[in-house]
Amino acid sequence: MSEESKARLSEMRKGELNPNFGKSASAETRTRMSIARKGKKMPSSRRSAHTRYHSNKDVFKDTCAYCVEDRQNT
Ligand SMILES: [Zn+2]
Repeated sequence: MSEESKARLSEMRKGELNPNFGKSASAETRTRMSIARKGKKMPSSRRSAHTRYHSNKDVFKDTCAYCVEDRQNT
């Protein structure tokens, strides 16, 4: 394919011809993404910190979800 036709195809996909042109994520989409994110587990680093500072030192903190979780599981 020539450079010229590649450039022409690329132009065709730009601007108002793009289906998503001028649109930002709708409120509905943003809400859905927000819910999806909230359902995810906490970063593993939080658990690493719990293991290091709580489990390994026999410390229990009511404010730490992992401490509470571990106590329930044992
Ligand atoms: Zn903990």
